[in-house]
Amino acid sequence: MSHLRKKVIAANWKMNMTASEVTAYLTNFLEEIKTVLAVDVILIPSFTSLPKSSELLALIPGIYLGAQNISSHDKGAFTGEISAAMLRDLFVRYVLIGHSERRHLFGETNDLIHAKIAIAHRHEIRPILCIGETLEERLAGKEKQVLEQQLREALTGFSLEQLANTIVAYEPVWAIGTGKTPTLDQAEESHLFIRSTLAQLSNSTTAQKIRLQYGGSVTPANTREFLSAPNIDGVLVGSASLDPRTFAQIFLQAQHA
Ligand code: PEP
Repeated sequence: MSHLRKKVIAANWKMNMTASEVTAYLTNFLEEIKTVLAVDVILIPSFTSLPKSSELLALIPGIYLGAQNISSHDKGAFTGEISAAMLRDLFVRYVLIGHSERRHLFGETNDLIHAKIAIAHRHEIRPILCIGETLEERLAGKEKQVLEQQLREALTGFSLEQLANTIVAYEPVWAIGTGKTPTLDQAEESHLFIRSTLAQLSNSTTAQKIRLQYGGSVTPANTREFLSAPNIDGVLVGSASLDPRTFAQIFLQAQHA
């Protein structure tokens, strides 16, 4: 990873852990990691755990709160939705947008994802845009085409500053929760392709500022290897982030990568 870009690791807890469980998690995690200097840490609990997490993390530098979703509307008659202003009010700094589960289980399109990115930026919440090909698409040799389309349709029309404040997470769908991972060469090839597409959507200086994460079956054992790739600046972790000690090990690996 480049010295220009600070490493960033994120924990996506999905629909796991109650607010009380998150409180216990944070106590354990903070004990394990002690200092946060070289790496930004983003913790992404479910909505109901955001208030408590926000309180507990308020005075801790380097650890940020993220949300798993955001409404594409500002406010109003949208029962069950959570707005950007509601998230900001809880000091949420990042939001996952376009996670493969939202795309595949909840039918999120690139257009909707674009609208969510726009509203997040308007409220100064940094989007973590998730992209990635399915196994079928990879086997058909279409992965670059898919990644390019996901990037173009989600990110066209934003300012250079907004793009620089966006994280892009490359998560091959076939690697999420499966224990399967791309080789280091395959992962670097995809991230390099993503960065050059981002340069086309902005310019090369801006593309060099955008942090790229790898996600999909990350563990303490493979974190350092992924982070050794020049275009991988961090990891987005699902299953292995559910245990505070395991996620603390990932953090320590990232700090030494
Ligand atoms: C994810 O869902 O973002 C993810 C990377 O999951 P896992 O680490 O379990 O593969």
